[in-house]
Amino acid sequence: MTAVADRHLRVARPLGRVDLEAAEAAARDLLAALGADPADEDLAGTPRRVAAAYAELLTPVPFVPTTFPNDEGYDELVVARDIPFSSLCRRHLLPFTGVAHVGYLPGDRILGLSKLARVVGLFARDLQTQERLTAQVAGWLTEHLAPRGTGVVVDAEHLCVTVRGVQAPGVRTVTSALRGRVRDDPRTRAEFLALATTMRG
Ligand code: ZN
Repeated sequence: MTAVADRHLRVARPLGRVDLEAAEAAARDLLAALGADPADEDLAGTPRRVAAAYAELLTPVPFVPTTFPNDEGYDELVVARDIPFSSLCRRHLLPFTGVAHVGYLPGDRILGLSKLARVVGLFARDLQTQERLTAQVAGWLTEHLAPRGTGVVVDAEHLCVTVRGVQAPGVRTVTSALRGRVRDDPRTRAEFLALATTMRG
């Protein structure tokens, strides 16, 4: 790797794990393997764009997960619905996109509302399965907030399902991870699922 490329990587992607130069070379090889002529003028920039696109999909936006004391003693569910995300299927390297509904029953700490979306983004920008993404978001909240309960529902469409294989456009996959009272207390569980899954419009 040249010194210039190395400096570029460090400055542009301080948290990234993607080797842009290697990804670009691999994308060029893949194009050739797929029967395309990488020397074709139309394709000249494609390896670089492919590498940049994967790097973006795999690099979470850093954030500071500030929590606050629950001074008001708020003891009802906090639910953020319809948090949009894009992720990358680790089995096909194809995107899956959808929404996450994330809630928790506060204990001693609460989290800024916008941060719930950040937590989803933190784990979505990875080579993922939907099940793992769902569990990781629930695990993060449980670990960082010690809430009395946590619920995560993820509703997504996978390109590997809709454009290949069975080719079932519109098929959505729903996964959930429920922890603590959201899992064990039937009333809290029903309330969370109603808040999280009520159909829009
Ligand atoms: Zn897939």
